[in-house]
Amino acid sequence: MGLLSEGSPLSWEETKKHGDHVRKHGIQQFINQYKKLKSRSRDILYWGDEVEYMLVKFDDEKKTAKLSLNAGEVLDNLQQCEKLCPQDHPSTWRPEYAGYMVEGTPGKPYGGLLAHFNVVESNMRLRRKEIQQALGPNEVPLSLTSYPRLGVGNFSDPETKTTPETGASKSIFFPDEVIFQGHPRFRTLSRNIRQRKGGKVEIQIPIFKDKKTPSPFIEDFSALGDDGEAARTAKPDHIYMDCMGFGMGCSCLQVTFQACNIDESRLLYDQLAPLCPIMLALSAASPVYRGYLSDIDARWTVISQSVDDRTDEERGKKELKNDRFQIHKSRYDSIDSYLSPIYKCYNDIELVLDQDLCDELQKGGIDETMARHIAHLFIRDPISLFSEKLNQNDEEDTDHFENIQSTNWQTMRFKPPPPNSSIGWRVEFRPMEVQLSSFENAAYVTFIVLLTRAVLSYGLNFVIPISKVDENMRTAHKRDAVNKDMFYFRKDVFTDCSPADVAKCMASGKCERIKCSNIQDEYTQMTMNEIFNGSDDFPGLIPLVKQYLNSVDIDIDTSCTIQNYLKLISKRASGAEPTIAKCIRNFVTNHPDYKQDSVVSEEINYDLLKLIHEKTDNCETLSTDTKFSSKTKDDIPTALSKAEKYLAQKNPQKNMTNGHKS
Ligand code: GLU
Ligand code: MG
Repeated sequence: MGLLSEGSPLSWEETKKHGDHVRKHGIQQFINQYKKLKSRSRDILYWGDEVEYMLVKFDDEKKTAKLSLNAGEVLDNLQQCEKLCPQDHPSTWRPEYAGYMVEGTPGKPYGGLLAHFNVVESNMRLRRKEIQQALGPNEVPLSLTSYPRLGVGNFSDPETKTTPETGASKSIFFPDEVIFQGHPRFRTLSRNIRQRKGGKVEIQIPIFKDKKTPSPFIEDFSALGDDGEAARTAKPDHIYMDCMGFGMGCSCLQVTFQACNIDESRLLYDQLAPLCPIMLALSAASPVYRGYLSDIDARWTVISQSVDDRTDEERGKKELKNDRFQIHKSRYDSIDSYLSPIYKCYNDIELVLDQDLCDELQKGGIDETMARHIAHLFIRDPISLFSEKLNQNDEEDTDHFENIQSTNWQTMRFKPPPPNSSIGWRVEFRPMEVQLSSFENAAYVTFIVLLTRAVLSYGLNFVIPISKVDENMRTAHKRDAVNKDMFYFRKDVFTDCSPADVAKCMASGKCERIKCSNIQDEYTQMTMNEIFNGSDDFPGLIPLVKQYLNSVDIDIDTSCTIQNYLKLISKRASGAEPTIAKCIRNFVTNHPDYKQDSVVSEEINYDLLKLIHEKTDNCETLSTDTKFSSKTKDDIPTALSKAEKYLAQKNPQKNMTNGHKS
């Protein structure tokens, strides 16, 4: 979840005092690194996935499935391999927000070879096995986006108690002891976010109103030690939650790409941004919160509200007196601007920024669009600061920059190379919900990586106004958005610019052929099926990816693997296969213990997690069986011929991509 500095965390009052210091030096550090690294080029495509797992402990007699707060010990075990062989270990393990979470990545990034898609899934399975061997009896790792009964009764093992009067979060539901204890960052963040906001965070999620759900739905929190705040704050017909853990205690699936240079990384950032809501909806896996069926399918807004540290002044509820800006979004939210100067006219929402820092950046030689992006991130205060890290060498260190950067948890993250390393310019794709099986996770990751290859090969353009991306973001959360809702998408994704033109535009900062007029005619609303599988008017993302695959050398095994992944993505988009959110919803509403009152009982929770555990395994065996059974290259579906038709006229130049034949 970001920077893990060592040392003694400062109180919020202390941290606040040093806000300007951190920002001033953070900006200087960015300028210094930018100067050193802006021309760094010819890095090759590297990419890697991150999967966050939850540790669950079953009690088959009592029929409970609790969150096991074992991450500290488990991590010690998991990290041994990395410690012994820093250069050569199959997986890398890091702590996450909660004591029941671990985060795993491949030990080494994957490169540009298509054959690497053959090892993504097996590496994910290996990671699951590694966790499993570090766990005790009846404990299992689940890649579950949200644990259904988080914050309800005794949901942890060992049992923990809330401390509403004292401690970091003061939650009436989520005990501080559930926060990962092995590093002070997580507790400090929870406390400082609450103190900065001037009260506990408020998460309000619409409840799914079933036949017997009380209407209006209003809970009584008095038995939980509520001093009246929860009763006052909770909105009727909403599931109310009061602490960071409800959001940051959710798991996700992220992908990081290294681009060949800074311009390509800016382009990737921009092209992936409109896909964030689309992939959030397609990966939706979290319909239950604090023991209730909600009316949303995806976690994003829960986390967004769970770390929203804006004060009343910043929210526009009070006149600005002590704070500097009115801020429209949480620190964890969708991006506010594209990064390539050529897409400037699609930046149609107000970008709140620190003008002094923006001027400073431009004086330091940073172009306006990039300066505005950084100055926007830097409207935030540091919310976790370590006394040992206060004074830094701005020529060498980047801790102050990273401090602000890593607590802006946006849908996309633009990442400058770390100082003195072999790593290049990177972007992180952050919206996806983690899927239950390694097969599914590998499918989503593979799809998004291949899509970036198609974007770079064919110069595809997905950019639409940021305000429409934001509207899509709201739509993406809705119950069954995949089948029921429409999303804004660009009508013609083929640009007049060849990839070479785009590269030139990037370098010069302007593109004659990208016009700023009639933008509203460039996009329309489409179903997920149309976006992914195509229609008479639109080629479809999957056919585009298939077309790209047809243009490169690929061995049969890899091809079969990829075709199976694309099939899953295609079926999820068409509704032929339900999202995880839908499966969970159906399971709950059809369970004999379900009383049509939105309540997900301990027994339902147990049966659901048990099934997920068993199904995850079955699903994985299933995919092994089917995956390699057909050794012939799949037939090209008819949809593909449409894309072929479009692309034949485009004669793509492939000099911008890595790892395929040119
Ligand atoms: N767990 C968070 C999520 O579900 C992400 C934390 C991180 O940035 O690694 O989005
Ligand atoms: Mg993480």
